[in-house]
Amino acid sequence: MTEAQARSAQPHRVVIVGAGFGGLETTHRLAGAPVNITLIDRRNHHLFQPLLYQVATASLATSEIAWPIRYLLRNRPEVTTLYATVTGVDATAKCVRLDDGDALPYDTLILATGARHAYFGHDEWEPFAPGLKTLEDATTLRRRILVAFERAERETDPERRAALLTFVIIGAGPTGVELAGTIAELAQDTLPPDFRNIDTHKTRVVLIEAGPRVLAGFPDDLSAYAQRSLESIGVEVMLGQPVTECTADSVVYGGTRLDTRTIIWAAGVRASPAAEWLGAPADRAGRLQVLPTSPCPTIPTSSPSAIPWLSQRPTESRCPALRRPPNSRGGMSRKPSRRGCAATPPPHSATSTPAAWRRSANARP
Ligand SMILES: Cc1cc2nc3c(=O)[nH]c(=O)nc-3n(C[C@H](O)[C@H](O)[C@H](O)COP(=O)(O)OP(=O)(O)OC[C@H]3O[C@@H](n4cnc5c(N)ncnc54)[C@H](O)[C@@H]3O)c2cc1C
Repeated sequence: MTEAQARSAQPHRVVIVGAGFGGLETTHRLAGAPVNITLIDRRNHHLFQPLLYQVATASLATSEIAWPIRYLLRNRPEVTTLYATVTGVDATAKCVRLDDGDALPYDTLILATGARHAYFGHDEWEPFAPGLKTLEDATTLRRRILVAFERAERETDPERRAALLTFVIIGAGPTGVELAGTIAELAQDTLPPDFRNIDTHKTRVVLIEAGPRVLAGFPDDLSAYAQRSLESIGVEVMLGQPVTECTADSVVYGGTRLDTRTIIWAAGVRASPAAEWLGAPADRAGRLQVLPTSPCPTIPTSSPSAIPWLSQRPTESRCPALRRPPNSRGGMSRKPSRRGCAATPPPHSATSTPAAWRRSANARP
């Protein structure tokens, strides 16, 4: 048997990098396809990012928004989960490189590696203004927020106490708006009876945005509604004010210095280095440019006819991530959606009820 014949007798090897929404959904949609899947992630858990802000503000526990990837796929014998960090791709040899030096061959590669924060050329701000993308980010923020209230309780100097009770969020997109609103509610509704020396109603929550409105991706009326809602619970919304400096004890925006001990970055994201791995064109945020007919313009792709379940459905996308194989459970009725801004918590996750707030607001920082 020739090497080519031996290869064609093996199931098609799909390597998926990243077990976030994209990677898991792709794995889900490939159920029933004649492929072997290797799903690689540098973390051992899948994370429901839309509820990270509730962990950061102590209303949910980490275990309520993260699940072991291995557990989620335990009933899929054709899926192998690998805990590893991908460091590069050799598109010619068709293998991904792992951080321990191993190389993993693929027939089809799907990169779903998500994004990280972008500090617009000021990476030195990151230690003072952490962002919110991972569980570690959320627990770091939770610690900083709760410790700020604890230190304020013991601080006798009025200026230092005011700085401890000033929380600055940079960026008024969905994450910034959610965080600002939740910290304000924490200070106004949840914490007041718990402290003796400070009045947490005096907490300042300042939301700074370089653009002209909050939630810039939403229609004007919703943006205005969100701003009014924030202001009604005491959030100070500063629009058209780019931040020019972040330090351990202050932030400078629009020429104003504000003393604070807690700055949260929610202003920008940058794609993972997938485009660099492929040497492929990317936009300014590092996002790989893809074409409707070819996942990546610079990478040669297999002919669809080489992969039976791709060639059978010519009217659907050639990208496996965007449609189901013919014999998968659930059939073909579920069309891919490109809409969606609202996040739906998984059914077994806790909700943000007052009881949930009370239960975990005093969680260990
Ligand atoms: C705080 C917050 C709130 C949000 N709220 C909403 C919302 O309400 N509604 C909504 O629709 N969207 C929301 N989003 C956006 C949504 O969560 C993302 O669009 C979605 O998670 C992106 O999915 P993804 O699979 O592309 O990336 P991710 O979910 O980020 O997954 C990427 C995976 O790749 C892994 N990975 C990365 N690099 C490597 C590597 N080199 N090697 C191995 N593994 C790697 C990571 O560990 C991760 O598991 C929110 C995001 C955040 C951060």
